[in-house]
Amino acid sequence: MILFKKEYQLQNYLNTLKSDKKSIGIVPTMGALHDGHLSLIQKAKEDNDCVVCTIFVNPTQFNNATDLEKYPRTVAKDIELLTSIGTDVLLMPSVEEVYPEGLDTTLELDFGKLATTMEGEFRPGHFDGMAQVVNRLVNMVQPHSLYMGQKDFQQITIVRSMLTQLESKIKLVMVPIMRHEDGLAMSSRNVRLTPENRNRAVIISQTLSEAKNKVENKTPKEVETWAMKELSIPEFKPEYFEIVDGITLQPIDDFNETDFAVACTAVWAGEVRLIDNMVLKS
Ligand code: AMP
Repeated sequence: MILFKKEYQLQNYLNTLKSDKKSIGIVPTMGALHDGHLSLIQKAKEDNDCVVCTIFVNPTQFNNATDLEKYPRTVAKDIELLTSIGTDVLLMPSVEEVYPEGLDTTLELDFGKLATTMEGEFRPGHFDGMAQVVNRLVNMVQPHSLYMGQKDFQQITIVRSMLTQLESKIKLVMVPIMRHEDGLAMSSRNVRLTPENRNRAVIISQTLSEAKNKVENKTPKEVETWAMKELSIPEFKPEYFEIVDGITLQPIDDFNETDFAVACTAVWAGEVRLIDNMVLKS
C-alpha cells in the first residue's frame, strides 16, 4: 500500500494509472476502521484496478466540538488493516491540504428536504460539511466509482443528489450495513460505549427488525411511536425513529404509499450517539 499525504503526489501516481486505462475506486472514511469499512474496500477491490481509501476526520461536518475531539483515532491499526486486505493507496491529508488557503471549497448546492429532516434536524450544518469534503476528496482523486455505506443512509442519498446536481459521471455504489453478531451496526463510535451500554445497544437493531414485522398490520406512525418507547431504556435517549420514503426521505403516512420504505433512527447511548437504519419494504 502506498501512503500519500499530498494531493499533487497522489495525482502524479494516479495519472499514470489513468493513462493506462485503469479504473479507480475511492472509499472515503474518517478512520478508526472496522469490518464495515473493510467491506467497502473489498467491494471496491472487486470492481476496480486500484482502490484509494481516504482517512480524514473532517472538522467541517462536526457540529459538536466534543464529538470531534473524542472521535477515535487509530492510525497505526488502520494502516495495518488496510495493508492486510490489499488496499492499493491510502490518502491521509492534513486539514491544510484539504482546505488550502485561497481555494474555495464551499459547495453552493441545495439539497432541499433531503438535508433538513432526521440527521439534518439534529446536526445542523453536518451535511453541508459532509458534501463539501466528499466533493473535495473526489476532486483530489477523480475516481470512476465512489463507495459508501448504507449505514449512513441519509448521507449517501445526499451524495447521490450532489453527484446528480454536479452532473458527475462517477458511479456511486451503496454497500450494505455490517453488523456485530448481536445485530449492533458496526461504528467507529461503538468503542466509546460503556460495557453496559454496549450490551444494551442491541435494542436498536432489534427494534428495527421488529418494526419490519409490523409493516403488514400497523401504520408508519404507530410503528414510530412504538419504537420510540422501545428505545427509551435506561441511559438511552432516542432522538428520532422515522419511517421514510427511501428516495425522497420524506415521512410516509401509509406503507402502501411507497415501494421503498426505510426506518432510520438516532439514539443517544449514554454520551455516544448511534445511528442505524433498515429497509422495511423494497
Ligand atoms: P465513517 O468513517 O464513519 O465516515 O464511514 C466511512 C464509510 O463507511 C461511510 O460510507 C459509512 O457509511 C461506511 N460505514 C460505516 N459503518 C459501516 C457499517 N457498519 N457497514 C457498512 N459500511 C459502513
